This record gives sequence, structure tokens and C-alpha cells, in this order.
Amino acid sequence: MDNQSAMLPDPRVLDFAKRHLIEVPGNPSALHSVGLAAKSAVEEAREKVAELINAEDARNIIFTGSATEANNLAIRGTAMRNASKGMSLLASRIEHISVLNSMKDLQKNGFQLQLIPVDSRGIVDLQALERMISKQTIVTSVMYANGEIGTIEPIKEISHIVHEKGMLLHVDATAAAGRIPIDVQNDGIDLLTLSSNDICGPQGAGALYAGPDVKIQPVTVGGGQERGLRPGTENLFAIAGMGEAARLARLEMSDDSIRLKAIRDSLIREILKIDETHLTGHATNRLPHHASFRFDRIEGESILLTLDAMFDIQVSTGSACSSRTLEPSHVLLALGLKHEQAHGSMVMTLGKSNHPDQIQVVFDAVKKTVARLRALSPL
Ligand code: PMP
Repeated sequence: MDNQSAMLPDPRVLDFAKRHLIEVPGNPSALHSVGLAAKSAVEEAREKVAELINAEDARNIIFTGSATEANNLAIRGTAMRNASKGMSLLASRIEHISVLNSMKDLQKNGFQLQLIPVDSRGIVDLQALERMISKQTIVTSVMYANGEIGTIEPIKEISHIVHEKGMLLHVDATAAAGRIPIDVQNDGIDLLTLSSNDICGPQGAGALYAGPDVKIQPVTVGGGQERGLRPGTENLFAIAGMGEAARLARLEMSDDSIRLKAIRDSLIREILKIDETHLTGHATNRLPHHASFRFDRIEGESILLTLDAMFDIQVSTGSACSSRTLEPSHVLLALGLKHEQAHGSMVMTLGKSNHPDQIQVVFDAVKKTVARLRALSPL
């Protein structure tokens, strides 16, 4: 029940990527035939990723090593290159830490950062955005959907507001890609972040889409790979796999989404029958595979550990990146929850291996876990 943090690579993707590694073991920068074959594998992957998000030109896709790296390149690379036009940055309060920390780091270079509030379901406050944005706002970053609460943002409306000021919109689509359709041209997105492992590809690849009008500078310097924007020898296995995962996601997303939504809705219906249990995020405008809750008077970490140890069911408490810090999630706090409320969170993300027979088993396990922990709780 934790496909988001441990998304299993699709076996078809692994086969495809492995074949590339064996049959095309070249370095894409080499000019001989083996190098050219490797280069064409990278270009094939670029086409497949471009098709997943309807990019106008595959050359606008830059492969990176992860979504974190793509977010850094999008924000730092664009802000540094365009600093003469303005030094203000905007991000929603619920962005991933790699977006927020990229922006916070730029504050050391004189950039100013403002965070856009969200409502209690995690939807960005559009009026606040209109008030905060100016012609100095060099980058605005709002994620397509949030991985902790599942909420999908009104990206088209956000793009409209940002473009009215003539500024750039970066969208982190790590949690949304391969789950819901994304169309960078129709949505009006200038920069978009993708992750291989979040679309059932291998770990070790990410991608940044940078539209035709976007000027960007590298944040890592070295050779000329990826138009000099992400120098370093390409991870051929992960990139070829990411391309194949993107192709399969485009073909299968709609059927997967219908199947997982049905399981997700039953899970939500059942789990909300437990006393003092609340859904987090938006009730309907949420990712099809995503169910997130909070339970009064108990800790998410205790739920996670009990479900794992007693029932062999794996869930998450929120972001895998911050779950080790035991700090309450900045996403849940941004919804207006108190610290003690934010601590009681549990996130379930479904994937290909989940099926309807699991709903009752999971519900029973969660119910027993919550009753057991509440009986022990001093609160
Ligand atoms: N953005 C979002 C929205 C995420 O959920 C994550 C984590 N999967 C990342 C960025 C960073 O991904 P990675 O750790 O693979 O770089």
C-alpha cells in the first residue's frame, strides 16, 4: 500500500532497459557505431517522455539523475540565468522539499521567496497568487499534484495568472505523471519535472521539460551532454527504462486509473468508518491511486510500524523524504492542522499489484491497529 515510495519497476521496463544495456553498451557521446547506437537509445527515450506530456519537441526534454535534480535545475538554472529581469520567487506552501530548498538556497544570493497559501484541502489560493505575483517574479513553482495528500492543483488557472504577468511557471509533476494526463502545451507549463521511478521506471533518472521560450543555465558544469544543461555520462539503463515506462504509462494510464480509483474509493469509504478518522487532501480532486488519512490521538509512525510488524502491510506517513525526521509534515501544517493532528497521518498509494480482495484485509488491519494504539495512548 506504499507504491509511491517503493514503486516497483514494471518487469517489461526492466527487460527493455536490460536489453539496451547488453545490446547497446556504448557511451552516447562516442562517435563510433556503438556510441551512436547508445545515443539513439537516449533519443528514443526522449521521444517517449515528450509524448507522455505532449511536449512540442523532444529536444525540450533534458534527462537528469532524479526529480530532485530536475527541480534544482528548473529553479536555480532559470533564476540565475534570468536574475537581471527580477529576483522574486514564489512557491506553494506544499511543494516538495527539493523545490523549497532550491528556492531557500537562492535567498543567499539575494533572491526573495514568498510562499503561496493553500486551503484546508491543499488547493492553492489563486487570489493570494494574484496578489503576490509581480513582474519581478522570475519563477513560480506549483506542483501538479501533491504526493502526501493526493490533491490535484488547478494548473491551467495558475498558468493563466503567471502568464498574464509574463512570468514562468514551473510544475513538479513527480507525483502526478503516469497517473493523470498531462499536456504541457494545453496546460501552459514552461518547466515540468518528471521522475523515472514514480512512473514504474528504474531509479536513477529524472527529466526536466523546458519549453521553447525558457532560458536556463546549468547548475552542474562539465561536458556537453544534455545540451550542456546536465553534463556527465548518461545513465543509459535508467534513461532507456524511463522512456519505456513513459510509453507504457501513456497507453495504460486510463485503464489503471479506473481500476485503482474503484479500490481507492472503497478503501476510503471503509477506513472513514473508524471513529475520529479524517481524510486529508481533496475528497474528489485527487490522484486516482491515492488515499490519505489522519487519526486523532495516535501517531502515524506507530500505525506504520504496527501494520508492518503485525499484518505485513506497508503504508507511509507522508513524504518518504521527511518521515525519518519525525517533524510534522509541512504539507499537513499548511492545511491548517495543528502539530498533534499532523502527527496522526497515514498515506496509502496503490499500484499494479493491488486488487479489490485486499480492501477488507487492509480495513480490518487498520481498524485493529487504531483500536490497539488508542488503548495504549495517554492522550
Ligand atoms: N517531487 C515530488 C512531488 C516528490 O514526491 C518527490 C519524491 N518522490 C520528489 C520531487 C523527489 O524525488 P527523488 O527523491 O526521486 O529525487
